[in-house]
Amino acid sequence: MSHDPASDEPQEGIRYVNLYEAEDKVYTRRITGFYQKLRRYTGLPLIAGFLLMPWLVIDGRPAMLFDLPERKFHILWTTFWPQDGMYLAWLLIIAAFMLFTVTVLVGRVWCGFTCPQTVWTQMYIWVEYLCQGDRNKRIRLDAAPMSFNKFVRKLSTYTLWLVIALVTALTFVGYFVPIRELILGLLTLDASLAAAFWVLFFTAATFTNAGFMRQQVCKYMCPYARFQAVMYDRDTLTVFYDYVRGEKRGPRKPNEDYKAAGKGDCIDCSWCVQVCPVDIDIRDGMQSECIDCGLCVDACNTVMDKMNYPRGLIRFTTEDNIKHGKTHVFRPRFIGYLVVLLVMISVFVYNLSTRTALGMEVLRDRGVRMYRISGKDVQNVYTVKINNMDAKPHQYQLEVDGDFDFRVEGFRPITVNSGEVFTMPVRVAVERNQLTEVKTSVTFTLQAKDNPELVTEHDTSFIGPQLRDH
Ligand code: SF4
Ligand code: SF4
Repeated sequence: MSHDPASDEPQEGIRYVNLYEAEDKVYTRRITGFYQKLRRYTGLPLIAGFLLMPWLVIDGRPAMLFDLPERKFHILWTTFWPQDGMYLAWLLIIAAFMLFTVTVLVGRVWCGFTCPQTVWTQMYIWVEYLCQGDRNKRIRLDAAPMSFNKFVRKLSTYTLWLVIALVTALTFVGYFVPIRELILGLLTLDASLAAAFWVLFFTAATFTNAGFMRQQVCKYMCPYARFQAVMYDRDTLTVFYDYVRGEKRGPRKPNEDYKAAGKGDCIDCSWCVQVCPVDIDIRDGMQSECIDCGLCVDACNTVMDKMNYPRGLIRFTTEDNIKHGKTHVFRPRFIGYLVVLLVMISVFVYNLSTRTALGMEVLRDRGVRMYRISGKDVQNVYTVKINNMDAKPHQYQLEVDGDFDFRVEGFRPITVNSGEVFTMPVRVAVERNQLTEVKTSVTFTLQAKDNPELVTEHDTSFIGPQLRDH
């Protein structure tokens, strides 16, 4: 259907959104219920984990630190170096696929229950409730002229918001700069300008996003909201209004036989709209703005209980279930995502478990002369690059094996510091009369003297003289 730009009249079935229109402030009603509690119990451990992680220390270093200047990422017991970029890329791809798989199955539960924007907005709304009261009181307070009472309530709200924003910013920057150093540096005015800037930036971003932008972030800024609709199918679990049972909606008198009057179970109280953090009416059908938070389910169940009607007029269900009374959990799309996800996780775990914190590159000297003759010996010269990716220094031993009695000449065990790449020339020799081939394979083995499990190998070739030269 096309829209006649000359006409301001909306056409039936099409909802027009003016992206430049100022958003009305949303005053959410406080509600208690199963999903509200679930949101609290998923949000609290996430907040606690986020706040505590930068303070945890494992083996004398932060449990989680993205050390950009040193170009190393400490994640729990593992340190990743720039050459481990593949692992981080894998992690991001796995996280994205996990999100896709979960979305196919249970819709936007990530958005409703665990997304930082949702969790922080929830915290900010709780502060509003604490300082200014519930929905109606807040609407009246905003409409009232400035007074001492209004000033104190607004000031206390913004002060608490600011404290939360500052703690959030300090913690977030603490994932990139050791948090103890960061706080001490800020207190003694000794922190770097960059660190101070990012703390201020994230304080302002948290304050604005969770305090004022809220649903606009979900509606207009979040990329996930834009493409999640393509992952939905008729069996995706999401919040639905049971229009078959609810319509025709409308108020009713006590003890009225509303069914005889052609009415459904919806009493049109608008509680489901008043609790909605993104300010939509779920009775208009599934909408891209809905974050599947379930608050409208709690609100409607409370109303149903008061009316003595069965619960579930608004509920988590599937389109197929509403229309045909059944849901297919294992359908091709979900199985496809799940198989790809499991394969990716298996490959990642295998690679990570066989990863060694030691890297070695060996390059045969490609000078004019492929080999040297020294007395009875033939020698090849190699450039060996040792990369210590462990969190502590190690002393390494180098050996060379092959079909003949190869020896490493003039090599003394060397100490390489954590994160250091050490490059050196290495001479490998073998008795000339042993060689029966011009080109033969050799294996370099590098091993830490203090940890036999820290070992790596590299295969290369050894070039000798033509056999007729013997
Ligand atoms: S809360 Fe339930 S009864 Fe009230 S308007 Fe929403 S759907 Fe209807
Ligand atoms: S419609 Fe219901 S589930 Fe969707 S965002 Fe609003 S309150 Fe949450």
